[in-house]
Amino acid sequence: MGNQRPTPGVDEIIVSPPWGQRYCARLDHTVTSTPARLVVTFGAPGVVGRAVLFPGCPGRSYPLCTQCFDDTRHLARTVWAGLTLRDHQVTPGPRAAG
Ligand SMILES: [Zn+2]
Repeated sequence: MGNQRPTPGVDEIIVSPPWGQRYCARLDHTVTSTPARLVVTFGAPGVVGRAVLFPGCPGRSYPLCTQCFDDTRHLARTVWAGLTLRDHQVTPGPRAAG
């Protein structure tokens, strides 16, 4: 419950809301304060995923803007056979004002 992000499985990317993460992780988008619209969390790669995923990505989460997510999703579907994109739509709990 709460704001815990789920743990992705093998060959899985989980998409969740950008709780508390304000800007896209792409360097030039961070510099221009491009808002993050979602967060992707990479699971452990299977055989194909190991060949296409950057080392260090598995298990990590990255806030992305809409454009970067579209680019990432397109690339992943093109080169990562067997990839599952799982949408984790959980509404964050109420936050205190301020
Ligand atoms: Zn971006």
